[in-house]
Amino acid sequence: MPQSEAATVQTSAGQALAGGAGEGATPMVAQYLEIKRAHPDCLLFYRMGDFYELFFDDAVKAARALDITLTKRGKHEGQDIPMCGVPVHAAESYLARLIRRGFRVAVSEQTEDPAEARKRGPKALVRREVVRVVTAGTLTEDSLLDARRHNYLAALAEAGGELGLAWLDVSTGDLHTQPLGGEGLAAALARLDPGEILAPERLAANPGLGQALAQWREALTSLPDSRFDSENARRRLMDHYGVAALDAFGDFTRAEVAACGALLDYVELTQKGRLPRLAPPRRLARGEAMEIDPATIRNLEIFRALSGEREGSLLWVLDRTVTGAGARLLAARLAEPLTDPRRIAERLDTVEFFFDQAGLRAELRAMLSRCPDVERALSRLTLGRGGPRDLAGVRDGLALAHEVGAALGGGGFAPPSGIEECGRALGRHDELVDRLSRALCAELPVAARDGGFIAAGFSPELDEQRTLRDEGRRLIAGLQSRYVSETGIPSLKIRHNNVLGYYVEVSSGQAPKIPASPDGPFIHRQTMASAVRYTTVELGELEARIAKAADTALALELALFDELVADVTARAEPAARAAGALSMLDVASALAHLATERRYCRPRVADSLDFCVTAGRHPVVEAALEEMGEAAFVTNGCDLSAHESSGDAGEGGRRLWLLTGPNMAGKSTFLRQNALVAIMAQMGSFVPADAAVIGVVDRLFSRVGAADDLARGRSTFMVEMVETAAILNQAGPRALVILDEIGRGTATFDGLSIAWAVIEHLHEVNRCRALFATHYHELTALSSKLPSLGLYTMRVKEWRGEVVFLHEVAPGVADRSYGIHVGRLAGLPDPVVGRAEQVLGMLESSEQAGALTKLADDLPLFSAARPQAGDAAPPEPSALEAALSDITPDALTPKEALELLYRLKELAKD
Ligand code: ATP
Repeated sequence: MPQSEAATVQTSAGQALAGGAGEGATPMVAQYLEIKRAHPDCLLFYRMGDFYELFFDDAVKAARALDITLTKRGKHEGQDIPMCGVPVHAAESYLARLIRRGFRVAVSEQTEDPAEARKRGPKALVRREVVRVVTAGTLTEDSLLDARRHNYLAALAEAGGELGLAWLDVSTGDLHTQPLGGEGLAAALARLDPGEILAPERLAANPGLGQALAQWREALTSLPDSRFDSENARRRLMDHYGVAALDAFGDFTRAEVAACGALLDYVELTQKGRLPRLAPPRRLARGEAMEIDPATIRNLEIFRALSGEREGSLLWVLDRTVTGAGARLLAARLAEPLTDPRRIAERLDTVEFFFDQAGLRAELRAMLSRCPDVERALSRLTLGRGGPRDLAGVRDGLALAHEVGAALGGGGFAPPSGIEECGRALGRHDELVDRLSRALCAELPVAARDGGFIAAGFSPELDEQRTLRDEGRRLIAGLQSRYVSETGIPSLKIRHNNVLGYYVEVSSGQAPKIPASPDGPFIHRQTMASAVRYTTVELGELEARIAKAADTALALELALFDELVADVTARAEPAARAAGALSMLDVASALAHLATERRYCRPRVADSLDFCVTAGRHPVVEAALEEMGEAAFVTNGCDLSAHESSGDAGEGGRRLWLLTGPNMAGKSTFLRQNALVAIMAQMGSFVPADAAVIGVVDRLFSRVGAADDLARGRSTFMVEMVETAAILNQAGPRALVILDEIGRGTATFDGLSIAWAVIEHLHEVNRCRALFATHYHELTALSSKLPSLGLYTMRVKEWRGEVVFLHEVAPGVADRSYGIHVGRLAGLPDPVVGRAEQVLGMLESSEQAGALTKLADDLPLFSAARPQAGDAAPPEPSALEAALSDITPDALTPKEALELLYRLKELAKD
């Protein structure tokens, strides 16, 4: 930062901005307003000296958001100008807070030397330009990011009537796309949890999509539709990747290409013309991953517990990775469980390999725990925002890749193909590692501009300048001794500060001993309370020599830094592949470590409709019980395998389980654990069970827990019904559905009736694998009519008047709910418990309750009740419909069209 203007502006921000009413803007205000006009949607950080200052409305908003002092400096059009500022050295933490609160920040810096500006006139203003727009989706700094989470920038586009989604992590260069049906958008966004979403204005305003996007309003950035042009995007992508066609990367739809192009465009815009290293786009094809709707992601607490915390979630239990990149990959896999059994088996092979090779696993994990975040360092370096520590990160990561490769290559084991592939991707980077090792010092500054990071011996030219600089410092020490003896003042010191540079200092008491001659050698500079400061011609000359050598040394270092960055950039692709391999090895060995620690087994995932879990456990509840030192988790099997071909509905042929049991007996836990086992198996993890055979689940649905959505104006019951409707409308035969206590949020009969109809629909129409937990024991009557419906219950034992929950699932039906018992355990007052028991006794003896159980016999089955295709002849079209179907719109003249409109209106009246 050029010092001279810095000093002036810092003390005179007010004057520089001041402009009386009617006088028009001062040059600085004019410059500020011009920059601000180009970035109206951003807070403008306007660099002045060691501060970024904010003015006008920006200052008011930022002061409130950051809780910093709002001052008023100068006037514009007769009004005070509000102002606040943040110190440059601490800017990142303020930026982080502003971004978290949903702001975008344009950072403007001085982009010319004040000396250059002065050539235009003594009062000319230093040029300032926005060097970067910081938005939630385009962050790269470690201090603004969570090391263990991807931060995606997503873009939604439409072309040819189809939707496409693309997402990019600017901090790592990972780029993905996905074709979308309208209903898949909400699930995709919930899975990706993007920091920012770009959408064309037209789509953002579309009411259909609006609902999916509404929840992401804070993250949404609408852009003009023209930014989403698929042809421009295709050219742009081909240009960027240097290919003649995109086909090599995948068969992208036009909408996906448009979304990708919009991402590149936006990144370039916010990074002022620069792009990070981008991996080729990877396509997530339709049906490639298990679809999990947003409610299920939330209800199953996959990434976050219902409390919003990471602790208590499935990811929290699964994540034993030791690197940030590994943690990000694990989370990405958990978000996209695969549906191809062959690919799942390949992943499981890598986990099994490390499961068996305990020694190698421990060695690898110890090595990886020293691994820096190569992906993010690479991204910053290629974006021109890296520092010496990023160079060291790349060096250490690549050196480690070599070590890891050697460890995998030795030992005489036969690794599976996935590990071999990683071994190849690790590669050799000797030349780059060697050059970086020779170039960099042991202790490194954060920013290159601080200098002092190139090791001695790397550049003779730099060494020479440093010697000159250091020699100058030695000469200054010699000068001090000479002045001490010449003046007879032993306490005389030569010191340095940023304002005076080098100066001679003596205490006030000793000052009279300094010769007062105006011709020197001591020229007075400053009198302080306790000391007097002087300079001398000799000292001035030495200082100039030191400064020149230091400036030259820094310039040389910066040039060397650029060369090293260019070396890294030239090898960015192999380096990124090595980093990718390290993260895959981290994930595989971490899942193996977890499996050993928690006694998980390898599941068998097949292309079938099986679902057979032997002695399954809930991974999170089990971990929590263990942590609290409570009783061990009780294992439970679940067999939903549908043996449709044989028509066998006997034991093992029950694809729909109706689970009854008292409150607190463990029904919800059982339901969730089976859904989690399916997710874990398909992401390529071992599972908490003794054995598991999972026929690929293409969609997972859940209706569990009671989550109010009052913010969107939906009651608990409404949410329940919306989620149930989605399941019944969408679940196909390969889906897995868990439903917990459907209908409990309304009057008993309504609830029971809805639950009844839902079970029939699941059994007859959806025909998917499903677990249904309920307190409506009356529903068990359905088993006589529905051959694939199995009745199961949570076992309890009554012992000396107390109820003991065994947490065991067994065939059969619960006889009671024990709700009152749970109420007593929870501390309901005794009189309330007593009265409740009385009321229950009366209700149970009533005719009405008994009558309900006869429903199954009296009501026709759902499938029989609903109109069957071909049951009745299709109704005759009405006159209006007939007239409408006769119209050929393209053949009508405007006059005919008008006449037709009148005729149709007449027909409608009839
Ligand atoms: P409600 O009907 O009241 O919702 P529920 O039957 O769904 O109850 P859960 O919430 O699943 O019961 O379980 C209650 C508690 O019992 C859990 O928090 C857990 O601590 C414990 N629990 C559940 N299943 C098991 C198990 N298999 N082994 C050990 N403890 C369990």
